[in-house]
Amino acid sequence: MPDLSTRDIKFLQGVGPQRASILNKELNVYSLHDLLYYFPYKYVDRSRLYYIHEIDGNMPYIQLRGRILTFEALGEGRQRRLVAHFSDGTGVVDLVWFQGLKYVTGKYKAGEEYVVFGKPTVFNGRINIAHPDIDSAEELKLSAMGLQPYYNTTEKMKRANLNSHALERLMKNLFHALQREVFDETLSPTLIETYHLMSLTDALYNIHFPQTPELLRRAQYRLKFEELLYVQLNILRYARERRNKFRGLVFDRVGEIFNTFYARNLPFELTGAQKRVIKEMRRDMGSGRQMNRLLQGDVGSGKTLVALMTMLIALDNGYQTCMMAPTEILAAQHFETVRRFLEGMDVRVELLTGNVKGKKREAILRGLLTGDVQILIGTHAVIEDTVSFSSLGLVVIDEQHRFGVAQRAKLWAKNTCPPHVLVMTATPIPRTLAMTLYGDLDVSVIDELPPGRKPVKTIHQFDNRRPVLYGFIRQQIQAGRQVYIVYPLIKESEKMDIKNLEEGYMHITEAFPEYKVSKVHGQMKPAEKDEEMQRFLRNETQIMVATTVIEVGVNVPNASVMVIENAERFGLSQLHQLRGRVGRGADQSYCILVTGYKLTEETRKRIEIMVQTNDGFEIAEADLKLRGPGDLEGTQQSGVAFDLKIADIARDGQLLQFVRGIAERLLDEDPEGVRPENAVVWRQLKELRRKNVNWAVIS
Ligand code: ADP
Ligand code: MG
Repeated sequence: MPDLSTRDIKFLQGVGPQRASILNKELNVYSLHDLLYYFPYKYVDRSRLYYIHEIDGNMPYIQLRGRILTFEALGEGRQRRLVAHFSDGTGVVDLVWFQGLKYVTGKYKAGEEYVVFGKPTVFNGRINIAHPDIDSAEELKLSAMGLQPYYNTTEKMKRANLNSHALERLMKNLFHALQREVFDETLSPTLIETYHLMSLTDALYNIHFPQTPELLRRAQYRLKFEELLYVQLNILRYARERRNKFRGLVFDRVGEIFNTFYARNLPFELTGAQKRVIKEMRRDMGSGRQMNRLLQGDVGSGKTLVALMTMLIALDNGYQTCMMAPTEILAAQHFETVRRFLEGMDVRVELLTGNVKGKKREAILRGLLTGDVQILIGTHAVIEDTVSFSSLGLVVIDEQHRFGVAQRAKLWAKNTCPPHVLVMTATPIPRTLAMTLYGDLDVSVIDELPPGRKPVKTIHQFDNRRPVLYGFIRQQIQAGRQVYIVYPLIKESEKMDIKNLEEGYMHITEAFPEYKVSKVHGQMKPAEKDEEMQRFLRNETQIMVATTVIEVGVNVPNASVMVIENAERFGLSQLHQLRGRVGRGADQSYCILVTGYKLTEETRKRIEIMVQTNDGFEIAEADLKLRGPGDLEGTQQSGVAFDLKIADIARDGQLLQFVRGIAERLLDEDPEGVRPENAVVWRQLKELRRKNVNWAVIS
């Protein structure tokens, strides 16, 4: 078969220059190949027609064939609607539209035969179908009344009469033009045989025009399998190449510093999970290959301590380490924590942020060059070009989702032999997604909280119940606790949000004249911000009104109430992060999600999940299911565009895991890609790498 990607879409029957330009712009479809790989997003079973006298309000989507008798415009203002009385001779149903009334009356005519598709409901004793799909009975013959494909289209396309049915017709024309030629297979015969896969030719035909539900299922399976396999092969190959290219520093000693800390300074028993993870990292760093590890652990699971102990291993082997945090507040806090942990030990720790200037900065930079500074803690400032180390052996990156892939890459250059890298995240990424996004990172999980923590109680409260809420806050403060009140912030620069916060602050100071109130937001100078945080930490203020700047890492154990205003405006992982700011002391803590009365279905679900569980991994999975991977925090910031055509990371997790195993075995058995039976696979991988820009970003 000739290469379809060189055949311009505009020469396909039914397209032409004008439609071609719309397909280019709206769908990124330029060639016959692009069109062929534009898959339907759903299929509707059109094999069964119902009679109106059979249906009631409890049925799922159904299909009727009949004629519109009359149109009737009803209601006024917001109640305005258009009703078409529709009959097939066995009864009458009402088709109802609340929007696009003009479009409907212009498009459909009384007396013509239509096939109507929708969900029947009963309203005022009559059967209604709101906003049905309507096709002329004529048009519908084209899918032979079996499973009909539906393609996503845009408004612009619809205006140019390029709706789903039109695309379906173009697909027909495409297959007609190809005359059932056989497509060049893109998987090896071994794979096809071993995993009982459908051939590419059959899969492509059945994905557009499924002959039966079973054939559709097999076509989808084959195409998902292939898509995930190549994504995994690509990631794994890069990872292996990198491993071979870079030898790692060997940390084969656990020495005096680590042991002294363990014996004298460690204030509590490590949890089992902490011990296991430290062991995993020791093994990694001693193996002779460079460590690239993602440490996942729920908020409060004790990642900082694990990171610190890993850093001490580097010190024991004669290397320096640095730790990066996404904000100044957090960097300063880590600095304090580490200093406290290392009290009485002879280890030089310094803090470097954009704020550290002049002589102080020079002294630190000099200390790094001589090797006197052993642990450097800071913000992005530590990866600036002016910062050089004498022997950097390990880099810890906290709260990874704020650091891009590019920044991570910048670290490689800090030593002739690249340092080991430990990335920590408290926004747990579901395993399946981690595999796709960070296929080059090994993953450690702290799945246990330190003992004695009481789970935070989460309560949903409508904003018209504020007096009750304030009563509760007052009661908690009287018992000696402190309270956070957080307002949403979308972008730090948005004046709106600051206004929100200022109003909230005024309101709170009026409602609680007997208490002191702190205020922190992203537009404040770091020093001011820090001063306010410190006041709250010293319990000089009882209420902290803030935007999400406090989201990450801040630790005030005496704070036991987290009130989140406009909780509907936060994503799940953000809500979970915020909740993690309380429950750090011995007292029972509370998280109160305040929302308006009207909530969308999705928001309601989000709030429900928060109320039901404290488990960050469960929340991350739910988040992925609700929002899809494209929106997941971390994926956008890291610049990874999700470009999967058919597989769905949220739903196809199992297949992904299965396919990853296959990819690993393939690479183990044939690392150089020389076996003739795999030739197809390597050729296809190369081809995809050439075409697909996004992959380079993923790895
Ligand atoms: P996170 O994983 O969210 O970064 P932290 O490292 O800030 O969590 O730890 C939260 C709190 O738990 C800190 O005050 C820390 O000192 C404490 N902690 C860590 N490990 C343990 C442990 N094994 N036993 C008791 N407390 C611990
Ligand atoms: Mg932390």
